[in-house]
Amino acid sequence: MQKTMKGVVLPGNSTVEIKEYPMPVPGHGEMLIKMKSSTICGSDIRAIYHEHVGKGPEGYQGFIAGHEPCGQIVSCGPGNRRFKEGDRVIIYHISGCGVCNDCRRGYMISCTSDKFRRAYGWQRDGGMAEYILAEEKDLVALPDELSYTDGAQVACGFGTVYEGLEKIGISGNDRVLVTGLGPVGLATMMLAKAMGASMIIGVDGVKERRDLAVKLGLADLVLDAGPDNAADVKKATGGMGCERSIDCSGNDKARLVCIQATRKWGKICFVGEGGTVAFLPSPDIIHDQKTIYGSWVTSIWKMEELVERIVRWKIHPEDLVTHRFPLEKAGEAYALMASGRCGKVAVVFDEELK
Ligand SMILES: [Zn+2]
Ligand SMILES: [Zn+2]
Repeated sequence: MQKTMKGVVLPGNSTVEIKEYPMPVPGHGEMLIKMKSSTICGSDIRAIYHEHVGKGPEGYQGFIAGHEPCGQIVSCGPGNRRFKEGDRVIIYHISGCGVCNDCRRGYMISCTSDKFRRAYGWQRDGGMAEYILAEEKDLVALPDELSYTDGAQVACGFGTVYEGLEKIGISGNDRVLVTGLGPVGLATMMLAKAMGASMIIGVDGVKERRDLAVKLGLADLVLDAGPDNAADVKKATGGMGCERSIDCSGNDKARLVCIQATRKWGKICFVGEGGTVAFLPSPDIIHDQKTIYGSWVTSIWKMEELVERIVRWKIHPEDLVTHRFPLEKAGEAYALMASGRCGKVAVVFDEELK
């Protein structure tokens, strides 16, 4: 096997550096995984690529980037219990201590250990490299029906969306409003449709994103972001509003649209990060008996459940990928993702490089 490998780091000035690393060797309970697909997340752009936002244990610490990795195990350290060489796997992107209350619930995202909570692509090496070293406990099996690029999307984006949608519950009774049609918003539409939503309305200020939602057949109606959004959603829903709304933008105005365009007794979920929101509690939520949920990433057992359902629903998260790049062109991949004029962007290897 080769002695070194290439990996991508993000200096925090909107550039990408490709560096040479020694080949990692798996220790106890660890697996060496040949990368097959590594997708770029909005948070990579927001919190690492342009500048390193957030310091301390949750900040980017100069490791190989990429927290949406999917690949194939090439060697196992001693002590492996379930996974073996040749297995296709998704990596849940935060490695937790395994023994705090949050880890025991499967929410390693919320692990309370300062020493052992390390996210791939932030505080330990991630997926923008030829190989990644991962802990066996962080792996989810990728079914044969799904491609590696399907799996990479589950590692963060689709998992996050699934958790939010499960919190508010989606069925054929629901018309669903999605604000922010970047990859997370498109994933929300794809899953809401699979769960049976009877109408899906999307809002975004970028034309390419609205067009993509329509082209993929995910939206019944798309609206350009503007002051009339709440009124237009009500008009499209017989004056009532949507039963469920999900904000994937993190934008204050879009969050308010979600709240105001939701029907009486409806549920709203905030998934998009950052920013703020101002609303009038009495008319906007209290009098109409509405509930607002917050949702952050997901648990590893829910990620496993999602993978099973994606197969049953016969959907392919990779359909949201509009651009694929080889590792050598990671610079172009990040720049395109930062422009927002695209769907999901993936860095891919071997058979995924089509
Ligand atoms: Zn992410
Ligand atoms: Zn923990």
